[in-house]
Amino acid sequence: MMRQYELVERVQKYDPNADEDLLNRAYVYAMKAHGNQTRASGEAYFNHPLEVAAILVDMKLDAATIAAALLHDTVEDTEATHLELVEKFGPDIAALVDGLTKIKKLDMMTKEATQAENLRKLLLAMSRDIRVLLVKLADRLHNMRTLSHVKPEKRLRVAQETMEIYAPLAGRMGMQVVRDEMEDIAFAILNPTANKMIRERLERLHQESGDLLQGIELALSKSLAENQIVAEVKGREKRAYSIFRKMERKHLALDQLSDIFGFRVLVNNVDECYRALGVVHQKWLAVPGKFKDYISNSKQNDYRSLHTIVIGPHSQRVEMQIRTFEMHDIAERGVAAHALYKDISEAKQAEAGVRIPATESNAYRWLRHLMDVLQEGDSPKEFLEHTRLELFHDQVFCFTPKGQLIALPVGATPIDFAYAVHTSIGDSCVGCKINGRHATLVAKLQNGDEVVIIRSDAQTPPPAWEAIAVTGKAKAAIRRATRADIRKQYTGLGREMVEKLLARQGKEFSEKEMAIALPRVGHRNSDDAFAAVGRGDLVPADLLKAMGLVVDEKDAKASKRKSSKVRDLQEGQFSLPVRGAASNMALKIYPLTGAVPGERIVGIITPGEGITIYPIFAEALEQFDQEPERWVDLAWGVAEEGMRFPARLSITLMNEVGALGQVAQTIGEYGGNIDELTMQARHGVRDFFELRILLEVFDIRHLNEIMNGLRAKPLVNEINRVAG
Ligand code: MN
Repeated sequence: MMRQYELVERVQKYDPNADEDLLNRAYVYAMKAHGNQTRASGEAYFNHPLEVAAILVDMKLDAATIAAALLHDTVEDTEATHLELVEKFGPDIAALVDGLTKIKKLDMMTKEATQAENLRKLLLAMSRDIRVLLVKLADRLHNMRTLSHVKPEKRLRVAQETMEIYAPLAGRMGMQVVRDEMEDIAFAILNPTANKMIRERLERLHQESGDLLQGIELALSKSLAENQIVAEVKGREKRAYSIFRKMERKHLALDQLSDIFGFRVLVNNVDECYRALGVVHQKWLAVPGKFKDYISNSKQNDYRSLHTIVIGPHSQRVEMQIRTFEMHDIAERGVAAHALYKDISEAKQAEAGVRIPATESNAYRWLRHLMDVLQEGDSPKEFLEHTRLELFHDQVFCFTPKGQLIALPVGATPIDFAYAVHTSIGDSCVGCKINGRHATLVAKLQNGDEVVIIRSDAQTPPPAWEAIAVTGKAKAAIRRATRADIRKQYTGLGREMVEKLLARQGKEFSEKEMAIALPRVGHRNSDDAFAAVGRGDLVPADLLKAMGLVVDEKDAKASKRKSSKVRDLQEGQFSLPVRGAASNMALKIYPLTGAVPGERIVGIITPGEGITIYPIFAEALEQFDQEPERWVDLAWGVAEEGMRFPARLSITLMNEVGALGQVAQTIGEYGGNIDELTMQARHGVRDFFELRILLEVFDIRHLNEIMNGLRAKPLVNEINRVAG
């Protein structure tokens, strides 16, 4: 276990200006916070954040990142709070830890393997600061190293997740060393048989050709020296997992794999790379088509190197990688290495813009952004601080309760979420829970939210949703459902009207008579005709006449009147300016509290009656907690000019002459109407009495004006909204 002074010393070795005090405080704070906690292995928990910090020290990262690594599990696993971290370590480090806490919560959720790409995007989207991602990768790497202590079932899940999400992410960030180690550990767990077989084979090959490899290494070093090239030559074995992948990809047996052995040649500059390549190709025969120049033609993750395969002294194929020390460092450590290489040549800077092809998917465009920052910043610290991942800022990723990941545009609501899962879920959606809590359907979803959609078969989407939804899929589905729903309502209404009129004539509806009438009224089927009646386009008496029936003149007139009345009712059905309710539902405001435009409201459905509107603070709502299917999410629309709304107030007044008059006068001055007024003595308090007033106001602003006006009066002791 690394000691406190060792940590500081190691950081100071590569960054003499590192904040020593910060490192010391983070070390002590994390150690105390984790206290007696232990890991699955039985060792002290604090060893884990310390090892994570050590991995990042090896990557030569800045003090803030190291401090965040030490603190990374404190908020999630100990008594420590975000606020305390802000106080003790400042908002920046607290924000880094907060990012890690959020990502950790994601780890707890079950995930579907097919969602790996989306999950990687989610990780990137949630890691606003690239240092969050660096700490996360180091955290995962240490967890992988200690995975043998974990129960087999969890071990498999973590290995799988690492293989699918974290290892590729490390690869895309160019951190090859981290990726390799993660893959090696995960592979041994996920595919122990193949791992064992390949490792044994490698071991045998190594023994068989040990001298051979040494011979090549010596010969190559000598030739390079003769050509005045200072180089480091290293033999390099392929890793078990990369061999396995190649076998799978090319459907090869292990024996058929040729380029298992390779060498890496490290030199000081680009010029020497090409000169070293010349030496290699002069010495041994190059295999045609195997030379690749990733220096002038770099890969998307900034990997730069020359690759070639030659035929060695005993006719075996030998792979060669030739690169500078700097390129090697970047190849191994990727993003983390950039911080150390500020003195990049002009030529390379110019290249930066074109190295990442324009056709590249949006996914990793941030690498380009990294390069930009690299050119602008002037210290490693600044580089890291300003490297905000602006990736996927136009998307949010949310989970279904089963762990399915749903990608939506920023600003998407639970309504969009419901339709994204399935149209039938959107159509029957009446409410939602976000992260376990009841939430409004107009809420803006955030990355990582778990959304539960509450459904009711009786529901049809209110037309107003079309304006609330942001995805095309949801909007189109709402339009479709709304049309179908309105038609259904008209059809039912029309049928009822026709049947009633028939009953007055002492008749019953018959399809046979309807069939005669249809061509006469210009409709193809009964439903069309009923819908026309319901809409008020067809007078019921005319339909009966078309059936060949004689309709009583008085009834015919009444039917005409009623028909137009129905139309009025359909068009201006509810006078309350509320969005989110189905158009055929009667609306009323809960009388014990009142509700005014501008305040948050919800609706409770009472079958056969309609929807009661409650302000969100109404205590009465509690009794519906167990009946989520009755909740409807409502929002205020635009009220008609001059329309007033009820709000019940409780005012505690001094028991003095003129108190009541003062209240009435103040309310009048502010243009409020008093609808109801009751007085109650306060138990045990003789000097005060309570007044309950039902006010009529225009909106919440108007109400607040009145309440503030009353509060300013000396005889008014207290004033509150009545909660029920
Ligand atoms: Mn951890």
